[in-house]
Amino acid sequence: MSRSRKIVVVGAHWGDEGKAKVVDNLVDNPENTVMVRFAGGANTGATLVIDGQKFVGHQLPVGVVRPGLVNIMGPYVACDLEALVLELRVARENGAPVMIDPRAPIVLPMYKALDRARDGGGTGPASIGTTGKGMGPTYAAFASRYALRVGDIVRGRNHLMTVRDRIQAYHVELLAGLESCGVSIEDKAFEFEAQLEQCLEYAAEIGDVVGDTVRYVRGVIAKSEKDVLFEGSQSIMLDVLHGWPYCTSCFTGIDAIGNSFGIRRFDQVVGVIKAYSTRVGRGPFPTEMDEFTANIVRERGGEYGSTTGRPRRCGWLDLPALRYAVRMGGITCLVMTKADVLCNLMTIPVATGYLDPTGTQVLEDAILDTELLAGVKAVYQSAASWAGPLTLERNLSGFPPIPAELVAYMEQVERATQVSIRGLSIGPDRKEMIWFERP
Ligand code: GDP
Repeated sequence: MSRSRKIVVVGAHWGDEGKAKVVDNLVDNPENTVMVRFAGGANTGATLVIDGQKFVGHQLPVGVVRPGLVNIMGPYVACDLEALVLELRVARENGAPVMIDPRAPIVLPMYKALDRARDGGGTGPASIGTTGKGMGPTYAAFASRYALRVGDIVRGRNHLMTVRDRIQAYHVELLAGLESCGVSIEDKAFEFEAQLEQCLEYAAEIGDVVGDTVRYVRGVIAKSEKDVLFEGSQSIMLDVLHGWPYCTSCFTGIDAIGNSFGIRRFDQVVGVIKAYSTRVGRGPFPTEMDEFTANIVRERGGEYGSTTGRPRRCGWLDLPALRYAVRMGGITCLVMTKADVLCNLMTIPVATGYLDPTGTQVLEDAILDTELLAGVKAVYQSAASWAGPLTLERNLSGFPPIPAELVAYMEQVERATQVSIRGLSIGPDRKEMIWFERP
């Protein structure tokens, strides 16, 4: 019997790299696979295209589209109950089992309102352009020990009453925060009792899938029963530590898996990159394209947020940032997506270093200092562009032909990061993927 695989898929840019497609591609036999979401929440928009049909996952793994595949939502995933019941319906219709950890913190409606009020749609002076899904206030509640957790609501009204006071104390603080943002706190959505009642209603819908995910996943691994695929959300560069303050609200890499599940050894940690870079929201972006070129790439690549519909900022490939993500994320191999989007461009600049803010020193690595990063200038080399369209049709040697310029482009990434590119995605569909060596 072959040994089961433990593979992590994380973003090595600023999110939206195509992680969902990659993790889906790594499934051998759905009935022999467990897929795990270990961080983030409904702020994620994980897109699969299956024979032209688009599916967007949020807080459950994208394995919910595959009958028989077990989908886990771990204890560090922020649980938006309203969105979860919709996703659970999809999983049930597809015959995909789900297990949700009782320790997962709940996103109360009020946290979403506060997130939106504070961020002001990404335009206010202190805003960073969040998705407005309440992640910041939820993880803040969790870290401050005020969070309501899934286990608190499925254990029934009596149990809920034992944690009620603690949560209400925080609620009062948040109401003051909302008021200071100019939001009327008379809104019914902010009534404390109403939010608790709503949670109890949702509890009736999710109660049968709540279970100890840590024990389950560890058991599967101990018995080598199934492949375990960990589906990352956001990315290493958006991690709360690496990207602060222009970041998501939680850890995004293998540390989150280690802390949640006690699993720290993997067969591969796959970093997903695009052939270029994108980011949403504010924050330093040294390789950002001029608006004319960005518009071309954005339209070709459909670079609009899956959760918010916002246009994504587009930039060239940034090797210093990639080196940083590989090293800090413990990434052991890469998959490059969206190579089709850059076909037939006149030139393809690649950032090989940064000129530091004083203009005297070239830095080869990104830095754990967002303010400093905001002052650097990318130093570019020009890569030869490749002709399209890219195709899956095999040539005489049995491989889909890949233009020599694209091969050279990938080799440059491999030299810079010291890890190999194992797969190349050449279109949105599940099938439009070339594996050189599948993990
Ligand atoms: P994720 O959250 O990392 O899974 O990424 P998203 O789903 O937010 O964004 C990736 C987008 O790129 C989705 O719309 C995918 O369908 C699309 N996509 C993935 N791979 C490719 C590719 O190789 N070429 C093109 N053109 N689109 C791709």
